[in-house]
Amino acid sequence: MSNNEVLDFLRAKNPYELEYLQAVEEVIGSVRKVLDRHPEYESLKILERLTEPERIISFRVCWMDDNNEVQVNRGYRVQMNSAIGPYKGGLRFHPSVNYSILKFLAFEQIFKNALTSLPLGGAKGGSDFDPKNKSDNEIMRFCQAFMLELYRHIGDFTDIPAGDIGVGAREIGYLFGTYKKIKNEFTGIITGKGEYWGGSAIRPEATGYGLIYFASHMLETKDDSLEGKKCLISGSGNVAQYAIEKILDKGGVPITASDSNGFIYDPDGIDREKLAYIKKLKNGDRGRIKKYTEVYTEAKYTAYSHDDDHNPLWKIEADCAFPCATQNEVNALDAQTMVKNKLLVLAEGANMPCTPEAISILQSSAVLYAPGKATNAGGVAVSGLEITQNRMGVYWNREQVDNNLKHIMKDIHNVCLKVAAEYGSPGNYLEGANIFAFVKVAEAMKAQGII
Ligand code: NDP
Repeated sequence: MSNNEVLDFLRAKNPYELEYLQAVEEVIGSVRKVLDRHPEYESLKILERLTEPERIISFRVCWMDDNNEVQVNRGYRVQMNSAIGPYKGGLRFHPSVNYSILKFLAFEQIFKNALTSLPLGGAKGGSDFDPKNKSDNEIMRFCQAFMLELYRHIGDFTDIPAGDIGVGAREIGYLFGTYKKIKNEFTGIITGKGEYWGGSAIRPEATGYGLIYFASHMLETKDDSLEGKKCLISGSGNVAQYAIEKILDKGGVPITASDSNGFIYDPDGIDREKLAYIKKLKNGDRGRIKKYTEVYTEAKYTAYSHDDDHNPLWKIEADCAFPCATQNEVNALDAQTMVKNKLLVLAEGANMPCTPEAISILQSSAVLYAPGKATNAGGVAVSGLEITQNRMGVYWNREQVDNNLKHIMKDIHNVCLKVAAEYGSPGNYLEGANIFAFVKVAEAMKAQGII
């Protein structure tokens, strides 16, 4: 089938899965050149097979809230592709979770995991459960109920979940504890565990740190660095917090952070003390980012409005942009504004934060643009290192894991550029990432036969 035929087929089959279709279309746009060089991939129907999940599990999750009322949510696991290793990908707890969101994330995960050089297949899961305004006990009961079903579908050589939006250290602890209790075994079936009970050093930091390592390599291609650069960051969760931390290490000046209600702009820069405040606010008190301006009065808070046709955070003049909140948070208008403001780099911390229109505007400008499947792969890479440590029964210290992470991010950066150049699109990180990962997975599928 031609690209268009594959897309038309998927549109007809999954008409309401807009995010999923968006993610597939982006990859298909890059791999036509590969199919021309490898006609056998077409006869083996690699694209058609890659875009059909190997397995989707959906299940009821019943739990009791603090008022002794029964609550019912839906849980999911999308096991997308296991050609190069056991399924691996995070769990997202957010009211917007549905088949489309999880299939897009699982599809992206196949390519991201292939880029890390580790033997990990692609998956994603989660629930439409909203952790906001829930007590710790409610979170624990929900996680226990969720794992009561999920446990039968995962295992350390089958499928190893991790965190994502709404699933942090607290949730991973409850999920792991429940699995251990049900199975009576202490195995590494989930990553992002606490460092004293099977977790890896640097795992909480890995996605944000890896993102900034990658962006530094992008700037190096222009003989430049993050030193003194003003940086826009969206989000204030796991990825955003550690991106800010690493920007500070590199001498950059982070000036924004956000949550789903609005964003803060601190013209003096978010320094280490202010970052510690954000961490406590978001991870400990679970408060809203608006509170930052009550303590640091030089900063300005802007609430998001549903009427906005774009995100006003991206209007602020800066050198670098790191969207670290959620999908489609940078649209064409935002991209145009950033190009006008002479942005140097946009590196994605979140998964698919730029719309296709935003990507093409950035790519046809002087802005260096790189996709999340390459730039945020540090998280799953260190998860892969956590799995290795669990299997070997060893602990690697911060320096060892951080060095590994640095090497992996540098290799991903370089392979994206190398492959993009080989395929006639020098400097196109998106194409390089898609093609490298696609060929790797396609070769594995070819070797393993029609299954
Ligand atoms: P967290 O839950 O820790 O933080 C998410 C942040 O984004 C919060 O500030 C949240 O605000 C904000 N946010 C979430 N949804 C929306 C929305 N619809 N509109 C505006 N803001 C929103 O998640 P992570 O930091 O872990 O994940 C952020 C992104 O990075 C996601 O795209 C995730 O898939 C991706 N990612 C994460 C990895 C990881 O290791 N954690 C690895 C690779 C990618 P609020 O508190 O109001 O909800």
